[in-house]
Amino acid sequence: MKRIFSGIQPTGNVTLGNYLGAIKNWVALQNEASCDCIFCVVDQHAITVQKNIGALKRSTQETAACLISAGIDPVNSILFNQSQVEEHMKLAWVLGCLTRVGWLNRMIQFKDKANQDKDNASAGLWWYPVMMAADILAYKGTHVPVGDDQKQHIELARDIARSYNFAFGVEFFPLPQAQILSKSFRIMSLCDGKKKMSKSDSSDMSRINITDNADTIAHKIKKAKTDSYSLPSETGGLVGRAEAQNLITIYAALSNKSVEVALLEYGGCGFGRLKRDLAELAIEVIRPIRMEVHRLMSDIKYIDNVLKKGSARASALSKPIVKEVYDTIGFLST
Ligand code: ATP
Ligand code: MG
Repeated sequence: MKRIFSGIQPTGNVTLGNYLGAIKNWVALQNEASCDCIFCVVDQHAITVQKNIGALKRSTQETAACLISAGIDPVNSILFNQSQVEEHMKLAWVLGCLTRVGWLNRMIQFKDKANQDKDNASAGLWWYPVMMAADILAYKGTHVPVGDDQKQHIELARDIARSYNFAFGVEFFPLPQAQILSKSFRIMSLCDGKKKMSKSDSSDMSRINITDNADTIAHKIKKAKTDSYSLPSETGGLVGRAEAQNLITIYAALSNKSVEVALLEYGGCGFGRLKRDLAELAIEVIRPIRMEVHRLMSDIKYIDNVLKKGSARASALSKPIVKEVYDTIGFLST
């Protein structure tokens, strides 16, 4: 049985990048009989960046609402928020003591998010990959469906699991595997095709949010950065054209086609036709999800209750695992 664990930060509006790169995959896995799925709104990770602190509670509820609206079934899967299960933090301390400083210094995402100003970034931002390893290992997670941007953090989680097993001469933690959809599911910013689409980007025009209405989606796609050439018929023609690559990738992902097939449709055309069709398609896919988010957010008690029940189920799974770690280490429990 595969034990799937994955998380999403309540750092703002859930984006089309999150949906295509991660959530859609979670929904598919949840419906596979061989998978036992745990999905977490990682609110403790969200405060690694100061600007997220104020709106955290609402953002946590809205992120959970987006997941349910996109198809996560909180009965079939476990859906909860990280801060309600103390095992993550308890395990993270232990794992942090087995992690080398050099490993964390190699994390690309820290460098990206610290914006070259490493001394002013929070220590939490630097250390969060350890907590992410604890999130997964507290459940002995075996498979982690994430976007391509998280690959390095899963490799780190494997190193940390290996390090624990070696230190104590046990085969306790499985080495979790990243489950990444094809690389082409990395969705980039609408303003800069070389930058990943992110919830936390300061410009709302850089992303499509699951909660955007039809006019906003159409406007953002219309304004999306392009270049002045027509679209190529083959993928080779996308080299060095990040924005063209991104728009055709989003179109392909939304229409469940390959980029190759999408290019056969649009090769030789200008961006106008692609943008028009892409806007229509994005609106069609997002509309029912947005409406459901809206409905769920008018019943906050329901969302809170889902997260409470999910947290109780997550605690029941992780408590014995973390207890065994504490006993192995020799922490005295009286
Ligand atoms: P933040 O900017 O706050 O880090 P984010 O948009 O990167 O937000 P996360 O909560 O960090 O979102 O990630 C949730 C999941 O979405 C992860 O599995 C991540 O790999 C995936 N993901 C995030 N952005 C993209 C993207 N642009 N394309 C594909 N997958 C993505
Ligand atoms: Mg991220």
